[in-house]
Amino acid sequence: MMWKSGKRWVYSITYDEGCAALLEHALHVHREYGIPGHVALLASQIGVRRNVTGSSYDGMMILSKEQIYALRAEGWGVSCHSMTHAAITMDNVQYEVVESRKVLEDALEMPIRIFCVPGNNESYPPARSVAKIAGYYAILTIYDNINTAETDLLRLCRCPLHTEYPPPFYSAFDPYKRLHQAIDRGGWVIDYAHCPMPARPIHPWKDCTVEELTERFETVRRVGGDDVWLAEPNEVVEYILNSRDVSRGV
Ligand SMILES: [Zn+2]
Repeated sequence: MMWKSGKRWVYSITYDEGCAALLEHALHVHREYGIPGHVALLASQIGVRRNVTGSSYDGMMILSKEQIYALRAEGWGVSCHSMTHAAITMDNVQYEVVESRKVLEDALEMPIRIFCVPGNNESYPPARSVAKIAGYYAILTIYDNINTAETDLLRLCRCPLHTEYPPPFYSAFDPYKRLHQAIDRGGWVIDYAHCPMPARPIHPWKDCTVEELTERFETVRRVGGDDVWLAEPNEVVEYILNSRDVSRGV
């Protein structure tokens, strides 16, 4: 399948938590390379200091509604990253996945159509079980793979853009990670980080540095050339849904 405007593959990047420090450290890199970003937000924590005990990002300022609107004006997108970042179980799924969407929509006064699984993929099955009823079109996971136009939108994979991967591999940062796979398959890479910082990541298994982010974007532009569609996930999900409607003759 051809992507929007005849592009042959797609590149997106998402930042979980939506730290305000993205404005200082990542936004200028996005502007330099013409790549839109995306933030996955806790519905109950907009414009406040993050309150998630034990998180590497606890206490960091989260983007305000006004800051999120300014990013949207530059092509960025938003998704819901649950209500409180608790591990999702069948006991709290209504609150964390269903109600959180309404709370975030009210807080931001905009439609929210993507859920982003918090923590790890163990929270994915319960989240998925209510996603359609809750009104989501897609789910971002941390299953590490590319997506394609045929991908199950309720199981979108993401590629960790991290300085190092956990033991036992300690894999080094790779600016080419999954790009050639996406080029060869006509796929869609969704990178995943939190809040890149200069010189040292906040956590090497959860983040990259600003320098690595810059190297990634430079590589995407260089190997992607005119063939890569640079888009935030809501835009790509909408495009896929429209294409499926057309092919079904809806
Ligand atoms: Zn998170």
